[in-house]
Amino acid sequence: MTNTENNKRYALWTNDVEDHSIWFNKLRYETGELVMKEGMPILLEIYKKFNVKSTFYFTGYMAEHFPDVVSMIIKDGHEVASHGYSHEVHEAFDVLSYKDQVEHLSKSKKLLEDICGYKVISFRAPALRVNSDTPKALAETGFVIDSSVASQRFDMFLSFGGLKKLKWLTAPRLPYHTQPDNLFKKGNGPIVEVPLTALMFPYVGTTMRIFPFITKMQHTILNAENKINHKPIVFDVHPNEFINEESESRTIERRSKNFFSYLLADLVRGKLKVKNLGKAAIPLYEKEIEFYQNRGYQFVTVKDYCKAQGLIPN
Ligand SMILES: [Zn+2]
Repeated sequence: MTNTENNKRYALWTNDVEDHSIWFNKLRYETGELVMKEGMPILLEIYKKFNVKSTFYFTGYMAEHFPDVVSMIIKDGHEVASHGYSHEVHEAFDVLSYKDQVEHLSKSKKLLEDICGYKVISFRAPALRVNSDTPKALAETGFVIDSSVASQRFDMFLSFGGLKKLKWLTAPRLPYHTQPDNLFKKGNGPIVEVPLTALMFPYVGTTMRIFPFITKMQHTILNAENKINHKPIVFDVHPNEFINEESESRTIERRSKNFFSYLLADLVRGKLKVKNLGKAAIPLYEKEIEFYQNRGYQFVTVKDYCKAQGLIPN
């Protein structure tokens, strides 16, 4: 393989930083604290070890309550990005009005920019829930890159807003300019979509921890795909996967009205999702990074990837 071809291999390692407790299946201030004190240092250590530059999507809530969680990534050259203001189910972007989306975006943007001192231009919606107002709200508030679409990922009842996410099945696989009112379709709108990687199953930390053999199969196929179309690998992990709250006792709360959604998204998921949490996740994650590192991929931030590809101005 020539060097130029080599340069086209990109791994975009992304992190969603929120106060969601996987163990309790709910948002918790104490979990936010653990994310900052335990989960984030573990991740930053791994990235340093493998010389990975990565993108961190913070909720405004985290930036407001734990500003250090944002400043701790800056000196290592990672990108500060927005994960909305709140991760509450009833405040997801597909249920917020246009006005409220704009408000959540500007609030989170300002909180983050006050800490990092540069323009925050990348966004990922909490729970990946967006609607036709979202691209307009993003453009209105100065965002340029979205990463909320998981092309060819099939969730159904396994996550919230599952049915609406059927749009993922037909979304383009390679990064693209979206339509002004549709993030799932190619167009000439101002927002660039960098889709999360998926092959039916999401290519994320949760799959890696619960079904490591699926992740292995996925990376073999993704690497083959990349050789053909240069699709960047976009992995999504959460620092709350590297903390362990198992010493605290729990009951699983019902979040969904729909029975199947309750059964799968709350009960089954609640039991499965805690597998390989905390320190057990470290070797799995390191192996995933090594797979691409051994094959000459460059680990860059979402923003730097878009600049290198001419998707956004330099
Ligand atoms: Zn999230």
